[in-house]
Amino acid sequence: MNFIQTRGNTEGFEEEVPFSHAILNPSASFGGLYVPKTLPKIDSAFIEENKDITYRDLARKILNMFEIDIDQKVIDEALSLYEKFDDSVDTAPVVKIEDDLFVNELYHGPTRAFKDMALQPFGYILSNLAQKIDKKYLILAATSGDTGPATLESFANKANIQVACLYPQGGTSDVQRLQMVTEDAPNLKVIGIKGNFDDAQSALKSLLASDTFKAKLQENHISLSAANSVNFGRIIFQIIYHIKSYFSLLSQGEIALGEKIYITVPSGNFGNALGAYYAKKMGIPIEKILITSNANNVLADLVNKGEYDIRERKLILTNSPAMDILKSSNVERVLFDKFGAARTKEMMDDLQKNNYYHLSKEELNLLQEDFAAIDTDDSYGLSVIKKYAQKGYVMDPHTATCLKAYEELKNKDLKMVICSTAEWTKFAPTMLMALEENDEKKSDLEALTKISKTLNIPITPSVNALFEKDIIHDKVVEKDAIESEILDFIQA
Ligand SMILES: *Cc1c(COP(=O)(O)O)cnc(C)c1O
Repeated sequence: MNFIQTRGNTEGFEEEVPFSHAILNPSASFGGLYVPKTLPKIDSAFIEENKDITYRDLARKILNMFEIDIDQKVIDEALSLYEKFDDSVDTAPVVKIEDDLFVNELYHGPTRAFKDMALQPFGYILSNLAQKIDKKYLILAATSGDTGPATLESFANKANIQVACLYPQGGTSDVQRLQMVTEDAPNLKVIGIKGNFDDAQSALKSLLASDTFKAKLQENHISLSAANSVNFGRIIFQIIYHIKSYFSLLSQGEIALGEKIYITVPSGNFGNALGAYYAKKMGIPIEKILITSNANNVLADLVNKGEYDIRERKLILTNSPAMDILKSSNVERVLFDKFGAARTKEMMDDLQKNNYYHLSKEELNLLQEDFAAIDTDDSYGLSVIKKYAQKGYVMDPHTATCLKAYEELKNKDLKMVICSTAEWTKFAPTMLMALEENDEKKSDLEALTKISKTLNIPITPSVNALFEKDIIHDKVVEKDAIESEILDFIQA
């Protein structure tokens, strides 16, 4: 199946491209994104027949439905990476926490956040493609804490790919930082930036615009690609686990075939929610996709008011840092699906120029057919963490935002699945603040130890081991030193 572009087509671009092209060169005409030309359909016979299937076998079937131009052998090898997850059969367990509420635990991979679900197989496929066409790629990543570790873990020692990863010094948890700076592979470079996540991201943007940088890449025969969720190679893997959660509920006898469910997604760049939207369009009986935001509630405002407005907004640092975002890339793919390329380009141009776009009343109605949204503040999340820990279920601060959707947006008597996007161990200082109801931030190690003792739960071994590992990447630099750091790395 071919891929088309969200903002229409311009000179120098093919009107449609195969999957391999879309993932090697994720930027489309006018700065738009690639999307599948059509979506495969899943009917109730398929659901019935496959409800007890393993995660990997389902993934294989779904990928085959998309008819992507990747050899079956490579797909199978990529999917075999799910063996690195806690349970190689039940890759993403669906756990009941209320009679009508279930948690889709997406964090059982190597870096303990849901990013592994897509980045593990995606990294394998991208490296394989790069080898096949005998080209070298550089992937630049700026991270607020979860994308960085998952990207590095995915591409470590992979041929034809180098990764340079920027993180804000002091802007991540110790666990997240250690996951990055202890990654030992010659094709990886991790650089701390003096500044916040915005600074890291803007440094990356100015790098991409720098002529000396681009010339050096060319001289060294290196092309740029991207591993964030603008790359459809990640989105395709994020459709699968939403589909699987429906199969799991059916298999557990919690729903009847055809019964609708709600899916709730704690959202930032909207890749996870987009995966749920595509699952719904493919035929999974989903009543609505419920979006939760933190204090950076730009997505909640879009879904509720039809306005995307970042004219007066400043990024607010919250307890759910992976959702601290102002420009959410994947909304564009939904806009395209609903309103077409011309209208999407208009809105994206408005956003670029005026930091603002808005939907008409009819457009908003269409959006609300599939989505509802709500925002939360930090104190709400802390109280949810404590409440559920006392009931025996431990969830991280991102997952905790979903309970607000359960309480306030679920207006039909249907089951709800919430996406758990990270393990508590990545955010231990915040977890401890919630449990002890104070605002004194302890170190990660102290908080991990204390929580483990108090709640009588283990610290994940790979997380514990981080504190003993050698630091490989100790560079922390000013913004203007980044370019030379990365050039030294790619020429080494
Ligand atoms: C990345 C991330 C999110 C946001 O996911 P999007 O797909 O960008 O919306 C939420 N929670 C955690 C823990 C994450 O790492």
